[in-house]
Amino acid sequence: MLEANGFHMIPWKLVEDWECKFCGKCCINHKVPLLFEEYAKIEPRYGPSSVEPGERMFYIRLLHDGKCFFLKKHGEKYLCRIHDEKPYVCRMFPFRVLRVPKYGNEELSEFKYGTKVFYIYLNRGCSGVKLGNPSMRFVEKVLPEFIKIYANKEANEKLLLKSSSSF
Ligand code: SF4
Ligand code: SF4
Repeated sequence: MLEANGFHMIPWKLVEDWECKFCGKCCINHKVPLLFEEYAKIEPRYGPSSVEPGERMFYIRLLHDGKCFFLKKHGEKYLCRIHDEKPYVCRMFPFRVLRVPKYGNEELSEFKYGTKVFYIYLNRGCSGVKLGNPSMRFVEKVLPEFIKIYANKEANEKLLLKSSSSF
């Protein structure tokens, strides 16, 4: 999965729309870090060869040719074998939803959703990013989808923190 470092992150207001093209680019030669709960699900289900240790966490294993262990080719498309349970960074790619404007362009990245403010960027390395003025579909459907994925993770982390501090 493409890391933000070394790839150009652009604010959402410069993007007309996004749609995955199944090009597989984000699943080749890029390491996917696993949250602890993802590791705890994936390792027992797919075996020890599906993951590999890093310095501080586990990653999905990259095969010798640089492809992710779970990547498969179907006709011209690259698909994920664990689509319904793929790790958080894969589900979010190419979006970064943040509480602070980490990649600059504060005004262009700001997105108000309900009472909350987020800063949203996209990784320019993704083939599905179409530059231009944001379309209605992008603003009303695509961005909220990714905010929800981010917000779910945030809520789970708070829950975990709460339960660990109650011991
Ligand atoms: S790089 Fe973008 S378009 Fe290609 S598979 Fe990944 S998310 Fe989809
Ligand atoms: S887990 Fe799936 S989406 Fe993530 S890098 Fe591997 S093949 Fe791609």
